[in-house]
Amino acid sequence: MIDKMPLFNLSNVSKPAELNYDVAVIGAGPGGLSAAIYAGRAGLKTIVFEKSTEGGQILLTDMIEDYPGFTSISGNALADNFLSHAKAFGANFANEEIVEVDLESNPKKLKTDLGNEYLAKVVVIATGSNPKKLGVKGENEFMNKGVSYCAVCDGSFFKNKKVIVVGGGDSAVEEGLYMTKIASEVTLIHRRDKLRAQKIAQDRAFKSKMKFIWNTVVTEIGGTKNVEYVMLKNVQTGEITKHETDGVFIYVGLIPNVEIFKKYIKTDENGFVLADEHMETNVKGVYVVGDIRKTPLRQIVTAAADGAIAVIDMTKYFD
Ligand code: NAP
Repeated sequence: MIDKMPLFNLSNVSKPAELNYDVAVIGAGPGGLSAAIYAGRAGLKTIVFEKSTEGGQILLTDMIEDYPGFTSISGNALADNFLSHAKAFGANFANEEIVEVDLESNPKKLKTDLGNEYLAKVVVIATGSNPKKLGVKGENEFMNKGVSYCAVCDGSFFKNKKVIVVGGGDSAVEEGLYMTKIASEVTLIHRRDKLRAQKIAQDRAFKSKMKFIWNTVVTEIGGTKNVEYVMLKNVQTGEITKHETDGVFIYVGLIPNVEIFKKYIKTDENGFVLADEHMETNVKGVYVVGDIRKTPLRQIVTAAADGAIAVIDMTKYFD
């Protein structure tokens, strides 16, 4: 949905002019871009790799109200600000996907989908996470036919239609609220009887037209061409009901994008990368910032702070 159109025919791609950097940042979300800003300001030769569009998860967010300095700003606008800030301090950008890394070599080696091999003294992992799937019948079949993981991207298809939102965290509640401005009916389905989302978001949701079905899970998504219904199971009574809906927005958590680093980097049992208080992983000179890090809070401000802390610490390698 937010993938960039290919800019050119890959067969015509030539080697980049420069393959050697002080700092390679993998991922251009708030954490990665903050690291790039701080590294650029510290005079470090920096490159940021992004396989999709610079900005990360904030591009999937309608309005942001909890990033200091902005009472309210759109996700797109904030992403643009981060990006131009990093460019202003000299960060280089490559629209390439890192497909293989050697984090034990010195300098570290990063291979991209275009076949280029970059070298960097220090690496910052900022690859974020992807939405977790529900894993129920019909979820894959009706993907983009009513099933979505991004209200901001797909919400407009559901004007005056009935939708459900699955999950009880910040994403479910905030994206559900966004859908109340578009859909005729928004019902949040949550497996418990209490939301996990921040109180301010909960208060808004309870005051909005959003309806709630508690202690309930989705067991099946069905329809003919597009989604027409979901089957629901009350986890307390076991009762199964059919709920008619045109759209299913799924927000049941995140899966960290950690695959290519797993060989080198320690993670928790869910794959979130472990780091010390300086954001340094178990591998010297390899840092982790943002949503992919094991952290008690995943916000734009914490991702940005991670980037700053990592770069201040890494200057020890250059001093
Ligand atoms: P999350 O906080 O992990 O919440 C996931 C929700 O889905 C939980 O309510 C969970 O239920 C439910 N869930 C998990 N697996 C399920 C399953 N198989 N079936 C049904 N329900 C399931 O995920 P998120 O909302 O995507 O947020 C991810 C991170 O980003 C969080 O740290 C969040 O605070 C942050 N975030 C922040 C903002 C903001 O600050 N404005 C906005 C969006 C996201 P339980 O509650 O029972 O576990």
